[in-house]
Amino acid sequence: MNRQGASIASEWIRKTVMMKKLILLGSTGSIGCQCLDVVRCHPGRFEIAALAAHRNQEMLAQQCREFSPRFVALTDEKAAALFPRNELAPGAEFLSGPDSLVELVRRCDADTAVIATVGAVGFQSTFEAVRTGKHIALANKEVLAMAGDLLMREARQCGVPIVPIDSEHSAILQCLQSGRPEEVERIILTASGGPFRGRRPEDFENVPVEEALNHPTWNMGAKITIDSATLFNKGLELIEAHHLFQTPLDRIDVVVHPQSIIHSMIEFCDGSIMAQLGDADMRTPIQYALSYPERIERSGRKLNLLDISQLTFFPPDLDSFPCLSLAYEAAQTGGTMPAYLSVANEEVVSAYLNGRICFGAIPRILEQSMKRHSPRLDYTLEDIQAVDRESREITQEILASL
Ligand code: NDP
Ligand code: MG
Repeated sequence: MNRQGASIASEWIRKTVMMKKLILLGSTGSIGCQCLDVVRCHPGRFEIAALAAHRNQEMLAQQCREFSPRFVALTDEKAAALFPRNELAPGAEFLSGPDSLVELVRRCDADTAVIATVGAVGFQSTFEAVRTGKHIALANKEVLAMAGDLLMREARQCGVPIVPIDSEHSAILQCLQSGRPEEVERIILTASGGPFRGRRPEDFENVPVEEALNHPTWNMGAKITIDSATLFNKGLELIEAHHLFQTPLDRIDVVVHPQSIIHSMIEFCDGSIMAQLGDADMRTPIQYALSYPERIERSGRKLNLLDISQLTFFPPDLDSFPCLSLAYEAAQTGGTMPAYLSVANEEVVSAYLNGRICFGAIPRILEQSMKRHSPRLDYTLEDIQAVDRESREITQEILASL
């Protein structure tokens, strides 16, 4: 073989060995689209084996045209009926209906499942992906909030890593590379503070949805943007960090850092604090979750330190943003309470987005709903599914009574 032939062959071997096959659930969302951007930047590294969404059949069809996945799913039957089958690659399978995510994950051979669905939707498919030995790149934080200890146990038993996509948890994972777990003193979770940081609750009691959706530093899906405005998102992230890094809640601090440049920090026992910095661009943590434990060439924006005039830090204002305290309380109670609260929050946020309630009512309804739940400390996956139903019913009852 001549030199050119040898180099083509070695490039081919490199690509074949390194190519990771991905399942992407929630491909039409904010994280899903940015994940596809990362894949575009690294055509020799990642290959899309499956794509799934809920009802955006047009965007899913475009994605199929570009990435030729072997499996495609839409959970909404009406949207599935409209999906143009001629956009599927030859031999590709199209699945539809609420159970299609689990079926897709079970049947599709892949290295990594990127879970970029939102809310409790990703619950069953994440467990299925773990059981079928796929590495997990997890954006759908509600799954960890709902059953973090069960998921982490299952992942340990199956020898499957759960790598976070959430920027804070990606930062923590990266900071952890510079010490041993037993040397960690504290996790410092940073929070942007959302669009209402520094304002009094009466000033944002009745804010219109468009204002609450206008996040100062991140461009994200509607649910997480509202969760960021109430600080409920930080509460979910506290629970997420607690499970992912097996760290007691009292060793996780939340610090408001409006610039969103430091994505989180670890304080080690010798007093050193390690921080991960970067532009507010989710492609960086998505890419790290896909390439972990390796680092590969950047697909996100580069941070120019000289553009940053200051980095500031404040304690969170728990009086103005009681959702963070509610999440903390649920985490301390443990058992099925975090699942109950996370699901109740899905219902309440959806009611706000649909104009049924005002912004200020979100924490009040959550508190009322939480009081109606008697948590089970020891629980199974089936219990969590029952709690999901209970939480939706009770929260809807409260919403209807307003
Ligand atoms: P989006 O609302 O933008 O996207 C959600 C995705 O999930 C869409 O593809 C949607 O499909 C799909 N989906 C919704 N419901 C269903 C369902 N019933 N069955 C199947 N698919 C469904 O959300 P984000 O991308 O913003 O967030 C995704 C997750 O990542 C959330 O848990 C969020 O907390 C987390 N996260 C997001 C960040 C961000 O920057 N956006 C940052 C950190 C974490 P369709 O479009 O067809 O409705
Ligand atoms: Mg985050």
